[in-house]
Amino acid sequence: MAPAEGELMNLHPLSGHEAIRRALAASHHREELPTALLLHGPPGVGKQRLALWIGQLLLCEARGEAGPCDACKSCRLQLRLEHPDFHWFLPLKRPSVTGGSERLDDALEEARWERLEEIRASPLHASVHEEPRGLYLGTVRNLRRRVQRRPSTGTRQVFLVAEAELLAAQESSAEAGNALLKSLEEPPEGTSFILTSNEPERLLPTIRSRSVQVHIAGLTGEEVEHFLTTVAEVEEETAKKAASLAQGSIGRAMGFVPGESGQEAPLDDLRRKAFRLVRAAIAPRPGERFLRSLDFPPAGGRGLGETLSFVESWLRDLAVVALGDPDSVLNSDARAGLEELVTRGRIRPELIPESLHAVDRARMLAAGNVNPQLIVHGLLHDLARSLTVEAP
Ligand SMILES: [Zn+2]
Repeated sequence: MAPAEGELMNLHPLSGHEAIRRALAASHHREELPTALLLHGPPGVGKQRLALWIGQLLLCEARGEAGPCDACKSCRLQLRLEHPDFHWFLPLKRPSVTGGSERLDDALEEARWERLEEIRASPLHASVHEEPRGLYLGTVRNLRRRVQRRPSTGTRQVFLVAEAELLAAQESSAEAGNALLKSLEEPPEGTSFILTSNEPERLLPTIRSRSVQVHIAGLTGEEVEHFLTTVAEVEEETAKKAASLAQGSIGRAMGFVPGESGQEAPLDDLRRKAFRLVRAAIAPRPGERFLRSLDFPPAGGRGLGETLSFVESWLRDLAVVALGDPDSVLNSDARAGLEELVTRGRIRPELIPESLHAVDRARMLAAGNVNPQLIVHGLLHDLARSLTVEAP
């Protein structure tokens, strides 16, 4: 799968979403495609890949009713992520620079190019973000500078703002959002915007109302598995397991595929970490809850989200096992461990809903950037109290 040195890799083919693609292509053919689209839906279902396809559609030199031609110079450039008039802005770790806003803007632009270079080299690589990332005011300033420039090849330019809800996660959120809004409100002729978001309700209402919203649904388990075996060349057994854990998301499924040189799959690592948390809450060794919380960094709570989702899936599995239906667990490879934990912890299924509330509370704290160690410690305490018969 890795490209040979110097070889450029093409984007993987877009899977699914056929009805939406047909509608978008037809609308573009009639020259009625909105200048600002907001693609929203669950994480990892291919929103950014679809946005790249829409970019290709808009920039294709041989516009037809059926969508982009895949053959013209524009299409070829876009499939290699090298089209000079397609600008992909995505959340990044904040660079540590001192000095004025110009220095920060330059550093952000440099970090963006580095990230795009990584994606070009390995477009299928799964990324797990445990570190806080954002779309900063500086990012939007850079975007606005590009909007003001003329397209370099034709008459159109396309801007993709990925995970747009992360505009709202910053201190200067309103400022960054409003700056983007200005571009959306008065785009120069031939300029299109595509926003993607997992949580559109976190966007400024004014941004939502300036764009046409398109819901992107998850793929079926079979579609995910098919993608993994055919496009990503994943072995059948691994693909089956990854698809079963993926919840309709190719991005998520890729996170359950081990690295080429045998490194653990990034999401599997988090899934195990989450299981250890649940185990520490239910049947702790002395001091274990405290020690487990030290596994988490003292800052940057946002990255906890993925771990908390796994804690939730383990708790649901415990309920399923406690109800006597172990065949229905989501984490089917861990059935024995779950059964053991239910017996040892004397888990009663009616106690699970309260424990899920504890996860929700932790999630809210994480969104507010509370110290992750404190969040995890509190969560383990709450889980222990809600799940065990004798209060600890
Ligand atoms: Zn084309």
